Amino acid sequence: MKVVVTGGAGYVGSHALAELKSAGHEPVVFDDLSEGHAEATGESGLVRVDLADEARVFKALCESRAEAVMHFAASASVGESVEEPQKYYFNNVVNTLRLLRAMRSAGIERFVFSSSCTVYGIPQRTPITEDFPLAPMSPYGRTKAAVEGILEDYASAYGLRYASLRYFNAAGAMPDGSLGEDHEPETHLIPLVIRAALGLRERISIYGTDYPTPDGTCIRDYIHVLDIARAHVLALEALADRQSMTYNLGIGQGHSVKEVIEEARRVTGRDIPVEEGPRRPGDPPALVSSPQKIKAELGWEARLASLRQIIETAWRWHSTHPQGFASKG
Ligand code: UDP
Repeated sequence: MKVVVTGGAGYVGSHALAELKSAGHEPVVFDDLSEGHAEATGESGLVRVDLADEARVFKALCESRAEAVMHFAASASVGESVEEPQKYYFNNVVNTLRLLRAMRSAGIERFVFSSSCTVYGIPQRTPITEDFPLAPMSPYGRTKAAVEGILEDYASAYGLRYASLRYFNAAGAMPDGSLGEDHEPETHLIPLVIRAALGLRERISIYGTDYPTPDGTCIRDYIHVLDIARAHVLALEALADRQSMTYNLGIGQGHSVKEVIEEARRVTGRDIPVEEGPRRPGDPPALVSSPQKIKAELGWEARLASLRQIIETAWRWHSTHPQGFASKG
């Protein structure tokens, strides 16, 4: 199937291209390269387009002859969203609406959406199931929840078929070391820990050691980016005969910040200096998914499920590409 992949030059999007191709699909990337990297798209066709330009998006959708859209393009930093909510509402909500309108005009009815576990805010307990109330605490989380609502309305009024995939902590890289994470600025734990192991930063700060968790540091559910990518392909294929679906995408197992650093020490064999700092505002103590729904309904199962595999693949990428991709944004 021909599939348009917005944000295909970005971290999760570029790994999805590889999974789409190995499942026999033909992805076409729409990306403005404001944050992505052209070489991450490999041999896939790349249309350099800003999603704000609806007329061009409509034309490119028609030319692509795609039957579905996977929508990764978004601004994705919780901290920045607090400083610049306008950017987030325009990029993530307004541009998604423009994309959906262009898709309607082009007669494309299948949509796979990158949502986020941030829609749950601080959950009352873990593991988190999809029926937990949505209570996002940041503009970023609110943009994801808003789009989920829009998709529901489009499905009932216009027959859109959609899958919303609520990612927990995406991490890891292509096992052959050819693709990986390259954000500027980088804010995520695993790449920062690896940068400290490589000596590219002095140390890693642990944001809070007084959480109500066994070792006092925050617990997250780290999921390999290729397992996320494969879930997108399964969801896309399931949309052939399903109306809509919303799934958590996590492993169902949590790891603390200290556990991540320890595992990174074992994998890299390097010293990783740490400092214990204050909490980062807005961080929930523990976010762990229940992946039962997607397992039961789509047969999805994580293949690179251990923290070790996640860190090993990330290490391979970062140690062979210490400066990331050659092209920047
Ligand atoms: N974290 C940390 N030091 C850092 C970056 C992150 O202690 O330099 C912690 C953060 O507080 C959170 C976990 O690592 O508990 C994962 O953070 P990340 O930003 O990777 O993902 P998030 O869970 O915020 O989406």
